[in-house]
Amino acid sequence: MEIIDLDIQKAAKGLADKEFSSVELTQSCLEKIKKTDNELKSFITVTDGLALKEAARADERIKSGENNPLLGIPSSIKDVILTKNILTTASSNILKNYIPAESATLMDKLDAKGMVMLGKVNCDAFAHGSSTENSDFFTSHNPWDLDRVPGGSSGGSASSVAGGECFYSIGTDTGGSIRQPASFCGLVGLKPTYGRVSRYGLISMTSSTDCPSIMAKTAGDAAIILEAIAGEDKKDATTSSKPVDKYLEYLQNFNIKGLRIGIPKEYFIEGLNKDIEESVRGAIVKLQGLGAEVVEISLPHTKYAVPTYYIITPSEVSSNLAKFDGIRFGYSSESDSETEVKNLMDVYIKSKGKGFGSEAKRRIMIGTYALSSGYYDAYYLKAQKVRALIKKDFDEVFEKVDIIIAPTAPSVAFKIGEHSDNPLEMYLGDIFLSAVSLAGLPAVSAPCGFVKPEDGEKEMPVGMQIIGKPFDEKTVLAVADIYEKDSGWTKKHPQI
Ligand code: GLN
Repeated sequence: MEIIDLDIQKAAKGLADKEFSSVELTQSCLEKIKKTDNELKSFITVTDGLALKEAARADERIKSGENNPLLGIPSSIKDVILTKNILTTASSNILKNYIPAESATLMDKLDAKGMVMLGKVNCDAFAHGSSTENSDFFTSHNPWDLDRVPGGSSGGSASSVAGGECFYSIGTDTGGSIRQPASFCGLVGLKPTYGRVSRYGLISMTSSTDCPSIMAKTAGDAAIILEAIAGEDKKDATTSSKPVDKYLEYLQNFNIKGLRIGIPKEYFIEGLNKDIEESVRGAIVKLQGLGAEVVEISLPHTKYAVPTYYIITPSEVSSNLAKFDGIRFGYSSESDSETEVKNLMDVYIKSKGKGFGSEAKRRIMIGTYALSSGYYDAYYLKAQKVRALIKKDFDEVFEKVDIIIAPTAPSVAFKIGEHSDNPLEMYLGDIFLSAVSLAGLPAVSAPCGFVKPEDGEKEMPVGMQIIGKPFDEKTVLAVADIYEKDSGWTKKHPQI
């Protein structure tokens, strides 16, 4: 059985019809990992024993008649998401021995659904980056062309799903880290609205834009996963109490007639690869053919999004990473999380001599500078004001349109090493991603074609970004779904 040809919905049907068991499905994934992961390098930790136990438990539940689409389906989890008693490194030397005492809320929710976790996957250290080249351990590879990056920071999530090692992955998107690797690997990557999914138990990066996010093969699969992990959480005060929609049901009954799609002129600019532009515009024409209306729009503050993001992100990063310095960070015996704190201290001591990598250091320095007295008003406060204008652009446009379509990235997956010495070049790749994160909106990157890059022989996937109103994940996913069924792009898989 080739995992690569199955999505969650097909696998769930196979399990329900007793064509195979969850243990068999899990064994196939583990074999695939054994075969391919020395090339793909998706996984930091493979939890094979645990996965087989979880699969056996899922088989019992299936036998007793339980019917939920995630039951017994193998997945991977980005290594910035806490997993109780399982190594969680954030791909960093500082946390390379860190065993959390608790799991993230989203893990508890997936466990309740009968998830099978195959292991923890690689990313840029602390999720800082766009290629996994900032991982303190190793770089992951793109299954469509092993010489290229899978994107980042959730690159291990993308390579594990696209490479057929698992069915889906949970990652995070703070400034594009699900959407960009989804685009680079031909997958559906959903960043929900800020506050739709609990951040409790993430190793935080930019707390005001961090979103647990979904890497899946199809829009329908992403809908199923979002339904499982979304919702209010008492442990995260920024979660919304809005009821969680029945996303999959919505997709099945969706009618695109009359839907107004906004095309922002600021997202089709010089620097965007022409073939990518053609793919995205082709998709828009298709959606028009299916009954949608197209409206030209303008988001005038778009050009400030990357500079604004790269002030706010390092500022929050410098504050969030301060707890790992091991010097000013003590613990009191009254503290509830005393074990957690001791654990972190212990981790720091063991990793002595191998501290933060250069990207984390760069962000700590920029952030500390932007927040320092005398510069705070000029940088941090100014950035927050521009952020409000960026958000306002979207608010105004969403009075005229229902969704916005734009490219996800200006290029296809680039070669390993191409930008790794030039952080500025790497940051500029976020040009179409940062504004959505700063505004906290939901967006999906959905496959919309293939392009042969000038510097290579192999055709690489292209993604388009479908951006929605706050908490309107259902429309974003429904448009991705209707296009996917019409275009068939998600049926193409890499040969690995
Ligand atoms: N490229 C962005 C950055 O480096 C993405 C980060 C993210 O979403 N985790 O900050």
